[in-house]
Parts: sequence; structure tokens; C-alpha cells
Amino acid sequence: MIKINDHFLDLKNSYLFSDISKRVSKFQKENPDREIIRLGIGDVTKPLSKTVVKALHNAVDEMASSETFRGYGPEQGYEFLIDKIIEFEYKPLGINLERSEVFISDGSKCDTGNIGDILDVSNTVAITDPVYPVYLDTNVMTGRSKIEFLPCNQENDFAPSLPKEKADMIYLCLPNNPTGTVLTKDQLKVFVDYAKANKSLILFDAAYESYITEENVPHSIYEIEGAKEVAIEFRSFSKQAGFTGTRCAYTIVPEELIGYTKNGGAINMHSLWLRRQSTKFNGVSYIVQKAAESIYTPEGQKEIKEYISYYMENAKIIRDGLESIGIKTFGGVNAPYIWLKTPGNLSSWEFFDLLLNEVGIVGTPGVGFGDEGEGYFRLTAFGSRENTIKAIEKIKKMTF
Ligand code: PLP
Repeated sequence: MIKINDHFLDLKNSYLFSDISKRVSKFQKENPDREIIRLGIGDVTKPLSKTVVKALHNAVDEMASSETFRGYGPEQGYEFLIDKIIEFEYKPLGINLERSEVFISDGSKCDTGNIGDILDVSNTVAITDPVYPVYLDTNVMTGRSKIEFLPCNQENDFAPSLPKEKADMIYLCLPNNPTGTVLTKDQLKVFVDYAKANKSLILFDAAYESYITEENVPHSIYEIEGAKEVAIEFRSFSKQAGFTGTRCAYTIVPEELIGYTKNGGAINMHSLWLRRQSTKFNGVSYIVQKAAESIYTPEGQKEIKEYISYYMENAKIIRDGLESIGIKTFGGVNAPYIWLKTPGNLSSWEFFDLLLNEVGIVGTPGVGFGDEGEGYFRLTAFGSRENTIKAIEKIKKMTF
């Protein structure tokens, strides 16, 4: 008899975004003439930049010639891209990385999920609440059941406190999806110190790092002294350069990072991740890695900065518009997400239905990111300028 992984049955409902799309499809069927503005799923809308497209074309041409054709690449990624990441992303922060510490991948979603392969099922896990649902779901799938949620709400300014129970694995998503919260260096140091004292691992998801605008906000956890001993960092080109459909990301696993066997023996976790990736992952295509590399040219840098400013201007339009009608907002300053308190004490899903039915706007119910998200709602700044303005004007005319 073939047995399934029973832990899949422990997962709550279906994935948040499929619930949303079911409701939107139903609305569309019932109201075929109504316009829908989507500020829900955190996907970008602007096309790839000129420099990236040119790099893609050039790489395709290389693949068409027998002299420059490439087959299987190094699973960990091409050095040309790894070197640029070290030089442009980490050197300016005063962080030195070895090539071997950078693992190019096809997404932070996959990496934040797959990292569990090298970690024992008995580990206790701390996950901030609300947060990107992939951390919780991938732990549930594996059967890790000792999970503590770290509440993030208005009372604590959406900044998590340390776990109450000893946590072996701690997920931090900063800037946060969905709340847009960031921590200062001092606040982040508290977590690094905790991890060092308790031999814990911090899984630091910095997918929105390039949206940070304020000073004294760490762009990398390795800006905190000693973090290389206790943290893995996930970064992505998805939101930095519009690669959500092109797929390229990277994960830093420092050589100093130590994990422990059941008997307490110290093991270098880098070697485990390398073994995992080279066994189960074929690497990102040469073409896509060339495209990612191109954002590190002067023209490429200029284009992605414009691209990010465009979205952050949308964020400001959303924040200002909502605040002008008395809706309390958070985030949107260091992240492309606006987290809002639902007016009139509506539940997250009640507010979702109200926006959809009255003005055809799709957002994301806060409760989909965890219980603490109940009564909150997320709007993204990734829409077009035109749609963002239109959506806010429509919301401003509503009465709550
Ligand atoms: N991490 C966070 C916090 C995200 O919000 C997302 C996407 O929305 C991802 C990771 C996924 O990144 P990628 O497209 O690289 O898989």
C-alpha cells in the first residue's frame, strides 16, 4: 500500500491566493461588465528593463552558436553572477563573502521551503505572525509541529519579541511581507544574540531589501556582528528587478554557520546545503543568470532604481489616500506593501468582500498571513500608476 505524507493533511485550507482567485472568478462570472483592479497578489506589473532584455537576447544568441553554447551549468551558479552579487550587494555594506557562500537559485520561495531538507524534523520553530505563509506551510508539510508564533501587532509596532519557548529555527522576514515592518540594527541584534546563546538558526528572508528607504535599517542580517555564525539569508531578483516570471534568486549560507547532529556534534551547514542543491537542483539557466547579471551594469542599476521608485511612489499614493479618509495604515515606507487596519472593525474577509463587491478592488485579507492579521488588510504598490490612483479614488468615495 502506498502511503502518503500525512502531514499534507495538516495544512490549513488551500493556499491564500487560490482562495482569493476563487472569489474573484466568482465575482467576474456574476458581474462580467465590472472592472477589477488587482492590488492583491504581490506580483510586479512593470516589464523587464531594457538592459535585462538585451542581456537575455545576447545570451540566447550565445546558446545558438556551437562555440558559446552552454549545457548543464554549475549547480551553485555561475561565478560571473556570484561575483557581482558579492561586489554590489554585500561589499558596500562592509560584508565580505566567499564565492562558495552564495547559492544562485530559481526563487526564495523554493529556498525558504527547501532549506528544511537539511534541518531535523524535531526542531522547534518560531515564526512571526502575520507573515508570508510559505514558512509555516513548508514546516507543516515536513511534520515539524513544535511551532511558536511571534505576534506582531499594533501594540508592539509589528516588531516580534523573542520566542518564549526555546526556538531552534527562527524565521524573520524583513522588510516584512505583509506589514512592511523593518527592524533597526539594535532590534535585529537581539535576535542574533539570542540565536548565538541558544545555538539557534535564523532564516532571514530579505526579498524586499531593495525597497528600504530609511537609514539605520539593516539591508542584510550580516551587518550584525556574529550573524554569519547563526543565519542564512534569502534574497531575490523577483521584486528587485521584476524577475517574478523570469526566476532568479540567491541564498547565502556562510561557511561559519554551524548546525548540530543529534549527538551534539558540530557540522558545517554550508556543506549540507551544497550537497542538497547539487543533488536536487540543476541550477538556474545561463540565459537567466546573464539577465540577472545585467542589473549590475550602470544602466541596469539606474533602471532598477527607477523601477523601485515607481512602485514606492504608488505606495505613497495608497498610504496618503487611505490616511486622508481616516484609515490607519502601516508599512509602505521600506516595503511595497501597505498594511491597513480595516475600518469599522470589519474582519479581513468582510473588508475583502466589501472592496470587491462595491468598487471591484482586490486586496489581500490580513488573516491569510496568520491569526494576528485578522482585522487587517494588505494592498500592494505593484499595480500600474493609473490603476493605483483609480483604486484609491474609488476607495475614497466609499463610506465605512
Ligand atoms: N519571500 C517573501 C517574503 C515573499 O513575499 C516572496 C514573494 O512574494 C518570496 C519570498 C518569493 O520570492 P521568489 O519570487 O524569489 O520565489
